[in-house]
Amino acid sequence: MPVRDDLRALEGYHSPQVTVDVRLNTNESPVPPPAAWRDAFAAELSRVQWHRYPDRAATQLREGIAAMHGVRPDQVFAANGSNEVLQTLLLTYAGPGRTVATFEPTYQLHGHIARLTGASVAEGERAADFSLDLDEVRRVIAQSSPIITFLCSPNNPTGLVESEADIRAVLQQVPGLLVVDEAYGQFAPWSALGLVDDDTPLVVTRTFSKTWSMAGSRLGYLVGPSWLVAELDKVVLPYHLDAAKQIAGRLALTFVDEMEERVHLIVSERERLAAAMAAMPVHVFPSGANFILFRPQTMAGRAVWQALLDRSVLIRDCSGWARLDDCLRVTVGTPEENDLFLAALAAALGTEVRP
Ligand SMILES: *Cc1c(COP(=O)(O)O)cnc(C)c1O
Repeated sequence: MPVRDDLRALEGYHSPQVTVDVRLNTNESPVPPPAAWRDAFAAELSRVQWHRYPDRAATQLREGIAAMHGVRPDQVFAANGSNEVLQTLLLTYAGPGRTVATFEPTYQLHGHIARLTGASVAEGERAADFSLDLDEVRRVIAQSSPIITFLCSPNNPTGLVESEADIRAVLQQVPGLLVVDEAYGQFAPWSALGLVDDDTPLVVTRTFSKTWSMAGSRLGYLVGPSWLVAELDKVVLPYHLDAAKQIAGRLALTFVDEMEERVHLIVSERERLAAAMAAMPVHVFPSGANFILFRPQTMAGRAVWQALLDRSVLIRDCSGWARLDDCLRVTVGTPEENDLFLAALAAALGTEVRP
């Protein structure tokens, strides 16, 4: 059965799941949510009226997210992971005959989901150090007049945080929406959330998958202008957020302190990892996220990835991606996992771990 003509050349999104002792390849939280959250969740689950549809507007969840960020509930849209948030945005504003702009290398799903909706993707290039090149932004916008321009801060897979000045500069130029994907926002020193209001074509997306230790629950959201949220509510499938997920998210918001504690631990572990790796023959890219991109200097990236896997440490092999030859990405794990990773990396490179 032939698929749509425009989908025939598309490849799926791949991230191999292999059974290993140390899994540092998908930027999840290395620790589960607090036990008290799990108990509260179980207690509420037992009271769900399963024969009824859930609250279609996810009212309490939206109110909780809005309160956390100091915005109105009508500026919040939640969905099944921030990937569904992105998909709903793209279904609403992209589609055939429209163009979406990305600045590569960046999160592959921005372009991928845009193409699924039938839109064209204008791929701009980042500078040699993977920072944003404002001249290139100007060129791409002038050439393709994108309905949506994507930035990702901290950027996946490079880890780079966009500066506020750069975000403001891009916002001045976009002819449509600027979407800033902040899946790793809590690990970074600043957020574009403060720039959102009803008169600005800016959307910031966030997820419970990374900082909130809830990748298993598939919950994400955006904060944006209320007129945009109203349009997304028309496009998304009715009752898309099931009752369990609404409870999971609403309860998670009562554990902000515990979440921030985990973020602090990961940020300090990230700095420890980066310092230890900098003493090895690898180039380490600066990161404001919960992962580190690096390029071994004495061996092929793929060979290092395999040598780590042989020691039961799985990281992400980015070496086949455009502009990322020989690059690997490691997610920050628990202190014990990070020690195992450093030892395996040192062994693979024939060097030693210096504290
Ligand atoms: C992990 C990730 C997401 C996906 O988040 P989900 O909420 O799990 O769908 C979105 N954007 C970026 C940049 C990510 O790295």
